[in-house]
Amino acid sequence: MNVAIASAALQPSRLTPGTDVLANEILSCLRYRFGKDATVAKPHDWLAAAIRVVRDRVIDRWIESTKEAYDDSRKRVYYLSLEFLIGRLTRDAFSNLGMMEEMRAALHKLGVDLDVIAALEPDAALGNGGLGRLAACFMESMATVDVPAHGYGIRYENGMFRQEFSEGWQVELPETWLDYGNPWEFERRERSFEVGFGGLVEFAEGDDEKHVWKPIERVLAVAYDTPVVGWRGERVNTLRLWSAMPIDPIRLDAFNAGDHIGALRDFTKADTLSRVLYPADATPAGQELRLRQEYFFSAASLQDIVQRHLSQYGDLSTLGQKAAIHLNDTHPAIAVAELMRLLMDVHGFALEKAWDITRETFAYTNHTLLPEALESWPVHLLDRLLPRHMQIVYSVNSLLLKEARDKDTFSDDSIKRISLIDETGERRVRMGNLAFAGSHSINGVSALHTDLMKETVFADLHRLYPDRINNKTNGITPRRWLLQSNPGLTQLARETIGDGFLDDVTLLRDLEDYAKDGGFQEKFTGVKRRNKERLAALVVERLGVKVDPSAMFDIQIKRIHEYKRQLLNIIEAVAVYDQIRSHPEKEWVPRVKFFGGKAAPSYVNAKLIIKLANDVARVINRDPTVRGLLKIVFLPNYNVSLAEVMVPAADLSEQISTAGMEASGTGNMKFALNGALTIGTLDGANVEMQEHVGADNIVIFGLTAEEVAERRREGYSPRDVIAQSPELSQALSSISSGVFSPDDPDRYRGLMDGIYNTDWFMVAADFDAYTDAQRKVDAIWRDPQLWAEKSILNTARMGWFSSDRTIREYARDIWNTPTVGG
Ligand SMILES: *Cc1c(COP(=O)(O)O)cnc(C)c1O
Repeated sequence: MNVAIASAALQPSRLTPGTDVLANEILSCLRYRFGKDATVAKPHDWLAAAIRVVRDRVIDRWIESTKEAYDDSRKRVYYLSLEFLIGRLTRDAFSNLGMMEEMRAALHKLGVDLDVIAALEPDAALGNGGLGRLAACFMESMATVDVPAHGYGIRYENGMFRQEFSEGWQVELPETWLDYGNPWEFERRERSFEVGFGGLVEFAEGDDEKHVWKPIERVLAVAYDTPVVGWRGERVNTLRLWSAMPIDPIRLDAFNAGDHIGALRDFTKADTLSRVLYPADATPAGQELRLRQEYFFSAASLQDIVQRHLSQYGDLSTLGQKAAIHLNDTHPAIAVAELMRLLMDVHGFALEKAWDITRETFAYTNHTLLPEALESWPVHLLDRLLPRHMQIVYSVNSLLLKEARDKDTFSDDSIKRISLIDETGERRVRMGNLAFAGSHSINGVSALHTDLMKETVFADLHRLYPDRINNKTNGITPRRWLLQSNPGLTQLARETIGDGFLDDVTLLRDLEDYAKDGGFQEKFTGVKRRNKERLAALVVERLGVKVDPSAMFDIQIKRIHEYKRQLLNIIEAVAVYDQIRSHPEKEWVPRVKFFGGKAAPSYVNAKLIIKLANDVARVINRDPTVRGLLKIVFLPNYNVSLAEVMVPAADLSEQISTAGMEASGTGNMKFALNGALTIGTLDGANVEMQEHVGADNIVIFGLTAEEVAERRREGYSPRDVIAQSPELSQALSSISSGVFSPDDPDRYRGLMDGIYNTDWFMVAADFDAYTDAQRKVDAIWRDPQLWAEKSILNTARMGWFSSDRTIREYARDIWNTPTVGG
């Protein structure tokens, strides 16, 4: 694969000094910063030196961007997210600065291959999946469309976890992404803030209107800044990640008295806060540590924001005009109470005024409707950890409920649902309601999801505040997900329609004219073929399994969750396996089914689904009667860098969630942009993808969200459905009876019983529609010109799903701040 051609003609930016200068800079960096010369430098040293040479240019732009924001008093956007799934940064920075080719040439001159050293960079994997990746795409797009922005999160020293398989079971190991240091980050000891927990609330001396919180535990939040370079390097924004430090690293008195462990207790306690991301996405967290992390980073970020505002404007009453604080899901929702506390207890604002400023400042994005994923915290836990915040929640709750009661159109039940406190069972604080009440804008992430949000979780709050909910369909950055990950396709598009799409990806639409052009189809298919060969080589390297690049590459990569229905895909594979053996005379389309994804460590069924995929793979891949027509490959440790190899190699993208359950999806967008056909349900952004690529160019199947709801209301009986489908029935019983688990025949009995008895995720209900859709996919595949045409039309029509478009909409409708371009 020739990455070199791809960006060769990107206009070098005004920063580019030329190959010889760069080569000299790399050598002198090696010598004076690392104490090595070219003869002893290891690949890691070359990478570190190359990064530092580019980094110096980034820093120049960074300082300018920061100065500009001060000078023109522009509104700043603060994006609070517990997760940033960044991946590698080097290629992003080199490419966005237009320095990729000069750096490649400079390194080549020194006998070093840029691709080889770039692959040594570990992924910054500070997220679970889509939500964290969205935050990363947004950071890049905000820099690209010139929004002065800071991202705020936690610098998890061991990420979430690295996934390995042991006999097909998921094993979780710590990520060690910081082992060799991180050349992209800058520690800012001078930007550190104290964050408290626990203790008591007292009245201020001589003022029994004013409260003072006296925490008993305190930790230090230390800032680590990473520059985020926008396309063409015009703006460089800051991702500020907090690391926890003890205020007193060691209690020397205890240590000297012999209590060595006790002396370090504060250290351990602080250290724990920024160690690992608790992988709680869409599963019940229920852990005090998680709440501590949420408050830790929210409180540090707010102190930082308030301090910056005060130093520039002197007065917090203008905060909402100069700062937009965005909550990426409810994880930072406690920030609403924290800002109220700062405004009232520290800066003397009255409750109502503080509430006005807060709502003017905050906006909130909802990411899920799954009831088990809607965050809430026991009142007693908040009372103990954050007593002042609990009081504030009660105060704003009374304002909120009064507003509802005054309207006279809200029943008692309705008011109970609006309340920030859930009184059913153990009393809990509803973080979604808190985020909603404390924000002027609440957005969903696809048209369908936003509609469902108005009808379900926030139906009552929406009736109370009908202007707040709005939709912002997710997007992906085309720089990472096309230009960098698919240089072959980028180059082909440039040769065909010119360079305009590099700055405005909607111009890919010009490729429509070539969709039926045989010569272009051949080139397009050739690019795909080379991407598939690259993935096939990776599969040999990682798993020792050989796959044929001329087979259809059918890929489902995403977190493992029952609603995403990897199980539907696996059961279909089992059914096809049966068919291939019982009908060897039929012409089967050779397929490789790829899987990738992590299961939350406490999510038993998700882990079992991984084991099942691996068990089924072992049996099918070794069975000679399959004649290589079907292979199953589960690549461990799915992350951004793996996605960058898998996505461009896909022929078919599996987006098969139970309708109504996937808020948007962004994996779906990456695949279609890279020319894969989608097989999917009418869920999340698939609905809008169908509108953009055209119903003929996507394979939609299954129940709609409305039909799913209806079936559940009616009392759905999976057993009846299964009895009507011999293929499904056969596949389920073979899995259930241990065909794929002879060492433990009952391993999947419970999992299969779940489908027979309840099937909440409608696997059985959608099974026949899914297999029909798969055979339709086979039929298209048998006509290579037709496949190529549809594939090209997907790439041509996916430009709207750029995160630049999404961010422009946020800026216009929510943050009220200008952008460039578009
Ligand atoms: C895009 C992406 C996701 C989100 O995938 P979905 O299919 O939308 O769930 C998750 N993880 C990684 C590493 C990604 O790049």
